[in-house]
Amino acid sequence: MELLFCSPLFLGIIFLNMEFDAAEHVFAYLQQYESMQLDDLLFSLMFILPLYLLIFALRRKREIEMLVSQAGTDSLTGILNRRRAVEILTNEVRRSHRSDSPLALVVFDIDHFKLINDTYGHPAGDRVLQQLIRSISQYVRSYDYLARIGGEEFMIIVTETDGSVATDIADRLRLQVETESFGLDRAVTASFGVSQLRKGESYSDLMHRTDERLYWAKNEGRNRVVGPSAGKS
Ligand code: GH3
Ligand code: MG
Ligand code: MG
Repeated sequence: MELLFCSPLFLGIIFLNMEFDAAEHVFAYLQQYESMQLDDLLFSLMFILPLYLLIFALRRKREIEMLVSQAGTDSLTGILNRRRAVEILTNEVRRSHRSDSPLALVVFDIDHFKLINDTYGHPAGDRVLQQLIRSISQYVRSYDYLARIGGEEFMIIVTETDGSVATDIADRLRLQVETESFGLDRAVTASFGVSQLRKGESYSDLMHRTDERLYWAKNEGRNRVVGPSAGKS
């Protein structure tokens, strides 16, 4: 049955081929089709593929930048976190030693913050932290670094500045906090320690020395700045 059906078809093909050179036409058509496909492929490889790769790379770059920035940011206040601040301080200390330019550090801590939490609740305490940072950010110079290094403890890396000038800056910030209205029935205050980097000093010794001054400020009654006077570190 199949043989019966196929034989005329087979004979027909032979006839067409002999009469019209069908195989030649089919070959020419396929060749044209093949070269079009090759063109498409080359076009994809040479243009579309690099374009896709470029878009993919740009997206990945943006995602990585966002992750890096998130990893160095405090989620409550939006400023630098301790990890990032220590990285920056390490670099700035190195730079200061190399270029022999002054570098100062300010560390401050909100006074009796536990009492604020206990009296007004933890969410109110969070709002105080956020408003305090918004309020003092405008007084921090664009080339300095403000970071949250603990629950209610902050640090400012004051670049190219000596200790006595940083002490004046800290006192302006202290006054700003004291006079800011936080919508509570009491003032919010903070205590500050300030130091200038000494010759050969490491970043950790500088942080330790500045912390000690912050605790002097606490012991001496809070809402004050302990830092070096002119010519001292
Ligand atoms: P001092 O004047 O000696 O600094 O007293 P203080 O009460 O500020 O210090 P203490 O270390 O006793 O308390 C700090 C409080 O800060 C306790 C902790 O619950 C609170 N705190 C830490 N992180 C956060 C935060 O992210 N949000 C809020 N609302 N409170 C926080
Ligand atoms: Mg405190
Ligand atoms: Mg504290």
